[in-house]
Amino acid sequence: MELKTSGSLSHLDKKRHIPIFFELEAGAKELELQFSYSPVEIAAALPINEISLSLFSPAGARGARHNNRDMNIRLSEVYASPGYVPGVLEPGRWCLVIDAHRILPGQVVTYDLSICSRANLSEFRLPEFSEGKTASRGPGWYRGDFHAHTYHSDARWEVSDLVHFARSQTLDFTTLSDHNTVSGLAEFHSYRADDLLTLGALELTTFYGHAVALGLNQWTEWRVNPPGGPGHTLQDLANRVEALGGIFIMAHPMSEGDPWCSGCHWGYEQMMPGTIRHIEVWNSSWEGSSHNEAALHLYYSWLNQGHRLVATAGTDIHRPAKQDHSLGFNCVYANDLTAEAILQGVRQGHLYLTNGPELELLVETASGTTFMMGDTVTETEGKLNLAWNNCQDFQLNLIVDGQVFQSWDSGGAGQEKLELNFAAKWLTLEVRNNRGELRALTNPIFFSHD
Ligand SMILES: [Zn+2]
Ligand SMILES: [Zn+2]
Repeated sequence: MELKTSGSLSHLDKKRHIPIFFELEAGAKELELQFSYSPVEIAAALPINEISLSLFSPAGARGARHNNRDMNIRLSEVYASPGYVPGVLEPGRWCLVIDAHRILPGQVVTYDLSICSRANLSEFRLPEFSEGKTASRGPGWYRGDFHAHTYHSDARWEVSDLVHFARSQTLDFTTLSDHNTVSGLAEFHSYRADDLLTLGALELTTFYGHAVALGLNQWTEWRVNPPGGPGHTLQDLANRVEALGGIFIMAHPMSEGDPWCSGCHWGYEQMMPGTIRHIEVWNSSWEGSSHNEAALHLYYSWLNQGHRLVATAGTDIHRPAKQDHSLGFNCVYANDLTAEAILQGVRQGHLYLTNGPELELLVETASGTTFMMGDTVTETEGKLNLAWNNCQDFQLNLIVDGQVFQSWDSGGAGQEKLELNFAAKWLTLEVRNNRGELRALTNPIFFSHD
């Protein structure tokens, strides 16, 4: 087959998914789509007109590339351009979707598309990847990342570079969560070994908010129709992620959004937090009074309203970084270093967020029962045990129901036993540096007085 088409988009098309259908004949071995649009950049001081392309075969999603620099797609049983998944080319109705993330006001964006199929395979082929294995290590604290990108979407490094970064940080686990695609996971999981567990994910990069679908190794629908429109709601997407065994994490909710970063600021009023249970309060670097500080404030206000929420961190790393003392990682208490056990630990809130400090936060009740972060204490007498290490000259804040209850200088390492505030609903422990920037945060211990 051969098809050439062109069209134009205006500001009215922003945040629309525009389908272009085509018929692929039986026996096609290779498919090539060439797409270009103009203008991409208008002026240095303005954001770009931003488009991505999603591809669907008659059997389902074949990937997406959240990257406007190279929009050509080549696909066969043994090859796929970054962002897309190789496989049999089913005959029938295919669909290329123009995802118009951003078209600036006053702009006419024109695009050209040519599609052709071939009956023979070219020399393009990907290596065959086989999944690595991580040996069992038993129960313990495991440190890792839940949010990162590669060249399969808009990052400027390869899958192997991301894995190298994780190993340079001596992480126990790391996650690849490319925008709206899982095409990098086959290679990613081939680097799994005893020293590093790899977790699958994708970042549902909707037009009104981003969410990490943690633990998924398959594509899941990410497109939400505008409010009031037919079809999928964000709740539908979240339900699907959970049904597939993943965790739906609201990503960087207070990040700067449109027009600078399409959909980066959370805009789903019904899911504030609604049914959401996991929130990335530490995205990328924690510097000054960043959007992370606003996300933490939002998180605490929701805890005060009685929501049971789990806080997570994600580096959202896109390129090689020098040693960054403000990136947040997750330290999860899990029954083993497996994907299932890590996800289980996260669901239970058994994790703290940290750039280096090591924390312990335990309630020991009069009857001898011990509760950890994420747990709910139902007894009324006991002690709070705190311990910290690798905290340099940081300040520790014990936060009770959103207020600083007690503060002290860390002195690098130490421990403390405190009487419980029985009237409290929840408490967390924060570690902050001398500029007030967060360096660690426990998930809450909750108190139930029913
Ligand atoms: Zn994002
Ligand atoms: Zn991201």
